[in-house]
Amino acid sequence: MLFVVTGPSGSGKSTIVHHVLSDLRNLQFSVSHTTRPKRNSEEDGREYYFVSDKEFERMIARKRFVEWAVVHGHYYGTSKKEVEEKRERKDVILDIDVQGAAQIRRKYKKAVFVFVLPPRFQELKRRLEERGMDSPAVIRQRLRDAKKEIREYVHFGYIVVNDRLDKAVLELESIILSARCRLEVRKKDIRPIVRSFH
Ligand code: ADP
Ligand code: 5GP
Repeated sequence: MLFVVTGPSGSGKSTIVHHVLSDLRNLQFSVSHTTRPKRNSEEDGREYYFVSDKEFERMIARKRFVEWAVVHGHYYGTSKKEVEEKRERKDVILDIDVQGAAQIRRKYKKAVFVFVLPPRFQELKRRLEERGMDSPAVIRQRLRDAKKEIREYVHFGYIVVNDRLDKAVLELESIILSARCRLEVRKKDIRPIVRSFH
């Protein structure tokens, strides 16, 4: 299964997803490609594959992405290889923006879409400032973009409000676990159980 997590920058997506990945089995993170500069705390191949504009555009031309978009002024994209290879083994979780989520929605009808909201706009601003990863100009751009991105929440089947982190983590975990319990997902695996009753 594919789980798509979207929300404005600073809403807490990476933090929540990080916890969920360490708590739940059979779940893998889809590592995106990006042209944005690497932050000090990040490692190439872990948070992102960091590539040049030229390399990214070459990948677009070769149709290597299941989705890609320009977000806060840089390219970001999910490669087909990343999703398809990981999906063969485990469920996959994508942390992507609203434009990417719209593209995934058209291609993967059964994907599960989750929008992460901060408790308030002012708290989003505070978190971005406190995170200390982006320059004031970048933070201003992300806050401007947040006002547009937020309107898209209506297209998501699930909403997580990240006021308290532990609650938000539990909410995302509950969404994943309940999606995995759906009849159409379980049908094949429960066959031996049902057969044992014959
Ligand atoms: P995103 O991936 O959505 O851009 P992050 O996960 O980087 O957001 O979170 C932004 C900042 O807010 C980080 O410094 C993170 O530690 C902090 N944060 C995340 N969730 C909470 C929360 N529930 N309460 C307070 N701070 C939080
Ligand atoms: P950041 O630079 O803070 O890591 O991410 C900025 C935004 O880009 C976030 O909203 C994040 O979800 C989005 N993003 C990360 N990877 C991808 C991707 O592969 N595709 C798209 N469309 N957005 C992405």
